[in-house]
Amino acid sequence: MNKTKIIATMGPSSNSKEIIKDIIQSGVDVVRINMSHSSFDEARDIILKVREVNRELSTITGIMIDTRGPEIRTTTLERDKIKLEAGNNIRIVKSNIKGNEDIISITLPEVINYIKIGERILINDGNVELSVISKTTDTLICEIKNDGYIKSNCSINIPNADFNLKFLSEYDIETVKFAVMMQVDYLALSHVKNQMDVLDINDLLIELSDDHIQIISKIENKSAIDEIKNILKVSDGVMVARGDLGIELEVERIPSVQKKIAEHAREAEKICIIATEMLSSMQESPRPTRAEVSDVANAVLDGTDAIMLSSETAIGKYPVETVTTTNKIIDEIEKEINYNDLLLEFNRKEKLSIPDAIAYSTVDLANRVNADAIVCSTISGNTAKKISHYRPSASVVALSPDEKTVSGLTINYGIIPIKVPMYENTDELINTSVQITKKIFNLDSGKRIVISGSFPLGKVNFIKIEEIK
Ligand code: PEP
Repeated sequence: MNKTKIIATMGPSSNSKEIIKDIIQSGVDVVRINMSHSSFDEARDIILKVREVNRELSTITGIMIDTRGPEIRTTTLERDKIKLEAGNNIRIVKSNIKGNEDIISITLPEVINYIKIGERILINDGNVELSVISKTTDTLICEIKNDGYIKSNCSINIPNADFNLKFLSEYDIETVKFAVMMQVDYLALSHVKNQMDVLDINDLLIELSDDHIQIISKIENKSAIDEIKNILKVSDGVMVARGDLGIELEVERIPSVQKKIAEHAREAEKICIIATEMLSSMQESPRPTRAEVSDVANAVLDGTDAIMLSSETAIGKYPVETVTTTNKIIDEIEKEINYNDLLLEFNRKEKLSIPDAIAYSTVDLANRVNADAIVCSTISGNTAKKISHYRPSASVVALSPDEKTVSGLTINYGIIPIKVPMYENTDELINTSVQITKKIFNLDSGKRIVISGSFPLGKVNFIKIEEIK
C-alpha cells in the first residue's frame, strides 16, 4: 500500500459525486478546494458530496480549504480567452471594467500606486510578460513582451515589487470562518510571507474556538523561503507551491528549493506537500510525459508526505486517470526506498522524550522484524504522526475513536487512519488491532505486526509484537 499521499484539487472536472467516488477509489487521500476559484456554495457542495461518498465507501478523506490570500488577479474579461500580442501595449486601470486586448482591470487596483516604470508583470501563471513603460495615477501602460492568452480571474505576479499587501482580506476571514463551520481538516494559506501571517490566522482560529484545523503554509515567494524555519514553527505543515514559486523565483531554482523545504519540514517534524504541474500534460492527454513521471518519483524520494494534483484533477480531461497514474508512480518508486537507511538519518539525537523514544523504537522494531504493519491507537493523532515522521517501512494503521483525529491524519506519510469504538481494556485494543490489520493487508499466519499504544488511551507507553495466528 502506498505511503506517499495524494491530494486532488476539485473543480469542474471532478465535482460530480461519480468522479469524487472514482478518484477516492483510485487513491486520493485529501481533496482540496481552492477558494481562488470556488464560491462558498460550490465548496459546500463538494464537501457534502465527499462526506456522502465516505459514508457509502467507508473511506476517510481529508478536506483542505485553500485561501485566496493577498493575491492579484484579472477581473472579468469580455471573452473567455483573449490573445495578447508581443509588441502591442495594454493598459491596466484602477476602475473596474470588462477587459480586452487593450485594457484590463485587476482585483487589487490600489497596487497600481506602488508599481514602478520598468517593473515586470506576469499574467496567467507567467505565460504573458508585460513591462511597465509609463504610468499615471490611475493607469499603468505596459508593453506586451510575448504572445499569450489571458483569462478572467487569472493570476498576476509582480515578482520584485516592494509593496506589502495586507495578509488577511475580508474574503479570507470569511473563508476561515467557512472552513471552521464546515469542520474541514486543513487550511492551506496562500502567499504567506512570514511567521506573523500564520499567527494572524492562528489567532483567528482561536477566536473561532477551533482546535482541529491544521495550518499548511504555502511557500511561494522569496520571503517565505528566507523565513521557512520560523514559518514551520507555527504551522502544521508546508506546501511547496511551485506554480507561484516558479514565477517569483528563477525557475531553475525550484528543484533545490523543493529539496531544502522538504528537509526543513522533516527536521521540524511537520507535513510537507509538493504541488503543481506534477502531471500537467495529463490535463489534455491520458498519458504523462516521462519527465513528469520522474518529477513525481523525485518528490517521493525528497521525502514529501503528499503530492498534490491541481489543474489535472480540477479542470483536466482525465482526473481519474491522473490519480491512478500518480498512484502507480508512487507505488513503483517506494519499492526503491531503503527505510533502514532513512531511520539511521534520525539516529543523531541522544536523548528523546518518551513519546519520541516509543515512536522511534516502534519503527526500529518493525523494520527489524520485517513487520507487515504498525498499529497505533491514538486519541490526538500525535503518536501516529511521530511514528510516520520516522518513515517506517510498514504502513501505520492509526486507530482512533475520534472522527476529527482520523480525518486529520490523512496527509501524513504512511498512515492509514481508521475510526474505532473506545476500547474497554488492553486485550480488546490488541485484538482489534490484529483483526483490523489482518483484514486490510490480508495477512496469513506467521506474519508480524507491531502495536504501540496505551490503555486507557492517552500518552503512548507500550510496544508489542504480535504474530498472526
Ligand atoms: C501554486 O502556486 O503552486 C499553488 C498550489 O497555488 P494555487 O493553485 O492557489 O495557485
